[in-house]
Amino acid sequence: MKIANILSAKGMNVFTVAPNQLLREAIHLLVQHNVGALVVAEKSDKPIGIITERDVVRAAAGNENFFAVRVGDVMTKDVITAAPEDDVKSVGQTMTTRRFRHMPILDRGKMVGIISIGDVLKAQLEEYEGLIETLNAQIAPG
Ligand code: AMP
Repeated sequence: MKIANILSAKGMNVFTVAPNQLLREAIHLLVQHNVGALVVAEKSDKPIGIITERDVVRAAAGNENFFAVRVGDVMTKDVITAAPEDDVKSVGQTMTTRRFRHMPILDRGKMVGIISIGDVLKAQLEEYEGLIETLNAQIAPG
């Protein structure tokens, strides 16, 4: 299964925040959109960072005034991305070994979606369920 299959079911919405916005605004966006990560971008579609709930907690742990910190100061700058034609399994492996749960998807440099580790697990579960159904049908008498 390809990442494109997940995107076609889930949609291509990516919520972004600018690096000069405050953590206060980023937290509001996370809550408003009910997501765990925001891609950091200026006007273009090209990500320059990613900020997740974990970064917010880290910032709060080290600074009583974390609400007024800029997104650009706590985001992860080296964003690892995947492409729509990538295999769901290998993307899931990358997320697991590198210990993060969000992966922006880029198609020829343009942002076309974001998937979470939950999306990967759901897709794999559905794939295995389909496989079990097929095998059951094959071994069923008659
Ligand atoms: P998460 O598990 O996604 O909440 O992220 C854990 C840490 O990894 C945070 O510091 C994130 O900023 C960072 N992170 C999340 N997704 C990515 C990604 N695709 N590329 C690089 N770093 C990431």
